[in-house]
Amino acid sequence: PSPVHVIGGGLAGSEACWQLVSAGVPVILHEMRGGKRNGESITTNAHQTDGLAELVCSNSFRSDDWQFNAVGLLHEEMRRAGSLILASADKHQVPAGGALAMDRDNFSAAVTEALSNHPLVTIVREEVTTLADKDWENIVVATGPLTSESLSQYVLDVSGEGQLSFFDAIAPIIHYESIDMSKAWKQSRYDKEGPGGDAAAYINCPMDKDQYEAFIDALLAGPKAEFKDWEHVPYFDGCLPIEVMAERGRETLRYGPMKPVGLTNPHNPTVKAHAIIQLRQDNALGTLYNMVGFQTKLKHGAQADVFRMIPGLENAQFARLGGLHRNTFIQSPKILDRELRLKSHPAARFAGQITGVEGYVESAAIGLLAGRFAAAQALGKTLPAPPETTALGALLNHITIGHLEGGSFQPMNINYGLLPQLEAPKVDENGQKIPLKERGRAKKRLMSLRALQDLQDWLNIA
Ligand code: FAD
Repeated sequence: PSPVHVIGGGLAGSEACWQLVSAGVPVILHEMRGGKRNGESITTNAHQTDGLAELVCSNSFRSDDWQFNAVGLLHEEMRRAGSLILASADKHQVPAGGALAMDRDNFSAAVTEALSNHPLVTIVREEVTTLADKDWENIVVATGPLTSESLSQYVLDVSGEGQLSFFDAIAPIIHYESIDMSKAWKQSRYDKEGPGGDAAAYINCPMDKDQYEAFIDALLAGPKAEFKDWEHVPYFDGCLPIEVMAERGRETLRYGPMKPVGLTNPHNPTVKAHAIIQLRQDNALGTLYNMVGFQTKLKHGAQADVFRMIPGLENAQFARLGGLHRNTFIQSPKILDRELRLKSHPAARFAGQITGVEGYVESAAIGLLAGRFAAAQALGKTLPAPPETTALGALLNHITIGHLEGGSFQPMNINYGLLPQLEAPKVDENGQKIPLKERGRAKKRLMSLRALQDLQDWLNIA
């Protein structure tokens, strides 16, 4: 078959490539990082390397629990579909309680190596600025939330739909050796064990009431980065900067990233902390930790001052400070067909965050589907959509036919609400009565089991 052109070597593009070559279809991957524009190296506002599948912010794929958590289910479905992104994540895991988190550099290196070494993959380090002058017949556009300007303009032109953007923020990363462990301690919330059997995956920094109030004052008073061009662009609720949360109410953070529950301070076990900040291991060596849920648009100078108010972080050295970025996505339900092709230009298929899914895993999942659809097309076959009862099928439904509530299509993480519901069971497999408060969980498990069963049927024909 003739090669498929994949544009963008991020989470989605890398997975799409892998699915294509796994089906025996050659790929030309165009990635702008590592290339030049007017003699200058190309990068984005968030990427820091030229590696494929670079994680721009957190190093977590969130919960890995396929029985009770929708993103855990999506992990499992992707594993069963031979995902390179999941295999690389599994291989480079770091302790993170019940979450799947990884060493970002080793993870990206594994993906880069798998694709660079594959005989059917050609990687071209260049920016694709338009498709208008190309005669490519089978294209996957996976250029992500930070799609370069010229290609964004092209997409806007051919799709005939207004582009929507919102703000997305990233959290700071701290050097472990600069954290004062005589004040902080290691423990996972509720001692929940992670895949490595480690129930002490997080570093916790406690605050008393006075410290919390002073911290909120400093957050509210601190200078924020201004974004004049995007004044009317809304925030995405799943990624709110902490200052914006604090503006919504002085207690908001205590119910969000600073909630003090499920943790006991061994330095002071009798006193309950008023608020707790958690840090998650960021690399395999355990030398870097990121501040969980601490996305911020505070100016860089102010960030160090404000975060050093946190007990245990008085001398924190920051490997990276937080920041705020644009997110770009298309009105997929209006402009894409069921196989993710642009209705107005069917040679081009879309994948990843640009299609209006949210998150690393969801982006890679749509890359997986786009890769399989493109492979089927290259081989002269057709591939039915995965069943709507699977997490993969539910995500595809969301972006191709779903949820145009009031005409506004909003990016979405995978969640059980996107799957057809089952009745909550009253008895378990052994005929034992399930207590009322556990029936919701039992229902999730049944939906997950149904998903994996239906996925297998689809994989058998796909
Ligand atoms: P990307 O991974 O960004 O890949 C797109 C690739 O296309 C890039 O390599 C880029 O260089 C390349 N490219 C762009 N334009 C062109 C062009 N014209 N020609 C050639 N190549 C091009 N999700 C989470 O789950 N957790 C987080 O913590 C998180 N934090 C985020 C923080 C920020 C600042 C942003 C912007 C997003 C964040 N996301 C996060 C959301 C999202 O899941 C990630 O952005 C994810 O990487 C999206 O995958 P993707 O493949 O669609 O895009």
